[in-house]
Amino acid sequence: MDTTKATNWPGSDRYMGGVVRSVELIPVRLPFKNEFKIAAGGPRPGIDVMVVKVHTQSGEVGIGETHAWMRQGSRETLASLRSVITDHFTPRLVGRSVFDSAAIIAQLREAVWNTSYAVAPVSDALLDLQGKLLGLPAYQVLGGRAKTSVAAGITLGIIPDHNELIAEVERRVAEGYSSFTVKVGNDPERDAQAVERLAANMGGRIVIRADGNSGMDFAGAMRFMNRVQDLGLDCVEQLLPPADLAGMAELARRYNVPFMADEAVSSEADLLKVIGMRAASVFQTKIAKNGGAWQCKRLWEIGAAAGMRIFPGNHPGASVATASALHLATAWPGELLEGPFAVGVNEILAEDIITDPIRREGKHMFAPDRPGLGVELDEEKLRRFRVDA
Ligand SMILES: [Mg+2]
Repeated sequence: MDTTKATNWPGSDRYMGGVVRSVELIPVRLPFKNEFKIAAGGPRPGIDVMVVKVHTQSGEVGIGETHAWMRQGSRETLASLRSVITDHFTPRLVGRSVFDSAAIIAQLREAVWNTSYAVAPVSDALLDLQGKLLGLPAYQVLGGRAKTSVAAGITLGIIPDHNELIAEVERRVAEGYSSFTVKVGNDPERDAQAVERLAANMGGRIVIRADGNSGMDFAGAMRFMNRVQDLGLDCVEQLLPPADLAGMAELARRYNVPFMADEAVSSEADLLKVIGMRAASVFQTKIAKNGGAWQCKRLWEIGAAAGMRIFPGNHPGASVATASALHLATAWPGELLEGPFAVGVNEILAEDIITDPIRREGKHMFAPDRPGLGVELDEEKLRRFRVDA
């Protein structure tokens, strides 16, 4: 339905100012400081990021970011993201006002099934534009300010040398962080040792979680849990593949440790299944994985209604996705765990793609008080890291 036809209320010029003219895609490959290793695949030198710019007829530009993560939970490549957004989303965006975002996003989700990674940057660009056209920070569009700042946690890739792992955590504690996720999932014995060492050295001072990134089978998960179950972990994340919800539920029954679902939760249907099977009592959202800030908000509402704890995460990407998660968290009136929603920019990326970094004091991150997402792209960096896709 073309709702832009019947707009003559006072102030409808703002609505019409949000009519989309074109969609621009900028695929970039951003380098990590050090190679990043999780359970699946070899160490990775960087991350593929798709930056989306939505241009309106009034000359305003909204931005969003997604990732071609290509591990469990994500099958996207930069080329597939481009194909979905250009061939299937753009025709459904051009000529529509960004203020009709709910209907637009529903149509995008219908157009190509199960493409949250492609929906995310478009949805966030519409949010950014709404804020810019209204002169409001995105958190105001998402429900208004509920928090002054949002505390972030740290994720540590698989670090084979445990002394190095402890040193890295010490360094982060000195910076003000107190919530840490250790990546595990390749070798239950070594994994357990890493967690034991960390708990023995730092246990009283920090919150510790372990993330298996779907890398364990059930027997391995049992071996790991038998070793770490009494170490006071806040929760253990996604040891088993996302398809094995029955195994996750069985672990949750056997151990008196909270479990977190990450790769297992892409859509609302996934989250409802996790809740129904009691496969986890904590879940993680990521802007790219779950389809942008609005879609994450939907999941948070469903999860919170079921009494689940919420862990705001992100893939190791740039500050546009960080800003999106941060605005949503700022507008969220309920509790949030100290999640690694700034995992890329605070820890892993060698280069960001925005001009002014988001304000951070210790572990506290502050949503920019500027219209929209409040971050500006660094065009020179985009040119430098652009890849063909
Ligand atoms: Mg995870």
